[in-house]
Amino acid sequence: MPFNDIYGINAFGDSVMRDRLPKAIYKELKSVQSGECELTNACAEVVANAMKDWAIEKGCTHYTHWFQPMTGLTAEKHDSFISPTADGLAIVEFSGKELIQGEPDASSFPSGGLRATFEARGYTAWDVTSPAFITEEGNCKTLVIPTAFVGYHGEALDKKTPLLRSMQALSAQAIRVLRALGNMSSKRVISTVGPEQEYFLVDREVFNARQDLKFTGRTLFGSLPPKGQELEDHYFGKIPERVSAFMTDVNAELWKIGIPSKTQHNEVAPNQFELAPIYGFSNVATDHNQMVMQTLKRVAKKHNLECLLHEKPFRGVNGSGKHNNWSMGTDDGINLLNPGSTPCENLSFLVFVAAVIKAVDTYAPLLRLAAANAGNDHRLGANEAPPAIISIFLGDQLQDIFESIALGKPLSQGAGGRLELGVNTLPKLPQDLTDRNRTSPFAFTGNKFEFRMCPSSDSISGPNFVMNTIVAEVLGDIASMLEKAKDLNAAVHELISDVWKKHSKIIFNGNGYTEDWVKEAEKRGLPNLRTSVEAWPHFASDESVRIFTKHKIFTKEEIHARLDIVLEKYSKQINIEASCAFEMASREILPACTDYAVELAGQIAILEESGMKASSLKKKLSDIAQLVEEASTLAAELEVVRLAAHDVSGAEEQAKFFRDKVFAKAEALRQPIDKLEKLMPKDYWPMPTYEDLLFTM
Ligand code: ADP
Ligand code: MG
Repeated sequence: MPFNDIYGINAFGDSVMRDRLPKAIYKELKSVQSGECELTNACAEVVANAMKDWAIEKGCTHYTHWFQPMTGLTAEKHDSFISPTADGLAIVEFSGKELIQGEPDASSFPSGGLRATFEARGYTAWDVTSPAFITEEGNCKTLVIPTAFVGYHGEALDKKTPLLRSMQALSAQAIRVLRALGNMSSKRVISTVGPEQEYFLVDREVFNARQDLKFTGRTLFGSLPPKGQELEDHYFGKIPERVSAFMTDVNAELWKIGIPSKTQHNEVAPNQFELAPIYGFSNVATDHNQMVMQTLKRVAKKHNLECLLHEKPFRGVNGSGKHNNWSMGTDDGINLLNPGSTPCENLSFLVFVAAVIKAVDTYAPLLRLAAANAGNDHRLGANEAPPAIISIFLGDQLQDIFESIALGKPLSQGAGGRLELGVNTLPKLPQDLTDRNRTSPFAFTGNKFEFRMCPSSDSISGPNFVMNTIVAEVLGDIASMLEKAKDLNAAVHELISDVWKKHSKIIFNGNGYTEDWVKEAEKRGLPNLRTSVEAWPHFASDESVRIFTKHKIFTKEEIHARLDIVLEKYSKQINIEASCAFEMASREILPACTDYAVELAGQIAILEESGMKASSLKKKLSDIAQLVEEASTLAAELEVVRLAAHDVSGAEEQAKFFRDKVFAKAEALRQPIDKLEKLMPKDYWPMPTYEDLLFTM
């Protein structure tokens, strides 16, 4: 069959619903999806029945409420459709109630103290706007129902609930602004997202021979072979055949469940690749990205490969990120970040871009912390870009337009003359405002903003609920101002001037990777939150609590609970890394080095006995002995600080201790060990090297 015929065959999408639901129910469900009315039990009953019939025809035996707890992974508990009857037989059953709500015993998911274990009940609630789909694992087919996961009193225990809440908040405020600008037809504004996913592939046997990759997702030791990525010969290069076969399988799996996987290419580092789907609604795109990550990992195993989603699996070559392309669209098809073809559309475009500029400048720490995790600390603010400083790339043309309006300057290009912002006099904006800048963490790319800091392994829910909320907050103020305005053109002009004067310090079109920019940013007063542990506490700042509670994304308690969860997770991860580094050093690497040193000593003795010179070998032996000594001491010290870290109380203090003492000590241990690797014969090194991991495919 033509390959596009498989698209969506395992998704309960719009066309299946239209085919299988009675017209009235289909219409009702569409209204529920667009937020116009609430789901009734009667409607749920009919939908559940249709979904069950469809799933059973496709060979499903089970269904699951699929949710995204705070672990950053997804969770599922499978129930079969089977229901025994009194006569010893069984029928298949799936009620509306089972579709709408589930009650997993959820006491073991992180809740940050929101849900004491004796109140272990958690509820999953169907996300009507994200299509159910069927997964096939081995011979088991399961109907997967995307859900939100909340506590007994509605506390958000997952990554989806705040995202859905933030989408609502954004829509409400954006519609107010559109109305004030004269748009009376759009009913909703939906945030849209297209995430570009980067990943590494390594051979599975090689992977399995490395304890660090298995337990921490990254190499804790390892030095680069003579060649790294400096020749830039991998980026957009020919995709290796083995990888191409893998990608073909991945695409087929994604297409079947309705994930529009579109672009694939080699990335900068050896064995690094990227996959990007076509954008969709934020919540659906977030669900899809979780499935993309799972599918990459699962299919890799079938190809005897292992997919690494870690932000920094290898020192010395680029790490992986996720580019979160974000925009806002109306239900009647207008992309609010697309410069239109009429002056009226352009007016609205400039207002929404201004809102994003103000939001990003005002709430930069929130965006930064939404992209924070232990893995990303190796990229942001370390020796790799993008830097930890949030700045916006607008491109010369758009910057010029803003400056002209704000400062009354003539436009440097185009028609020239003073730019008046009257609806009647605003010149046509160029249709393609795309500029290319690869180093900006937050870039305008023609009809959307691309947030490039996101960690490759995490859910994109965080960056998106932050974006939605901060933009909603700013749009709210803009709406209040425009609603009162007597002269709309004058008000918009004033708004743009005001935003530009107060917030253009966040605009930076230059190279974000340089040390000069770090200094310049400091002069401008832009925050530089280098590590996760530094960034996260801003989540509980007064201003953060104010906006998240105001827009009903979180209560104060939910914020504090989440903050504790991420800090604790960080500490646990560093603990695992340190423990793993200690084991590898003391049980694998150092014994191997000692064996070799002893053998070398024997060789030297024999050579000298036969009257030969062995001074360079002696030097090598003494270097090895010294490095082994150094590493042994550091390994022992690492174990001591790691254990001491457990006695530090307070989530933030403990995370800081792990960062400053434990992580720092593990880094110190890496140094002599990476030097030893270069001195040891290949056969003696007890694990696969970077060469084996990165250059054999
Ligand atoms: P790049 O050159 O950065 O790879 P692409 O044109 O390939 O850029 O697009 C990257 C992503 O941006 C894709 O997932 C694409 O679907 C997404 N995208 C395009 N338009 C929008 C939009 N309006 N909202 C959100 N994402 C979008
Ligand atoms: Mg991109």
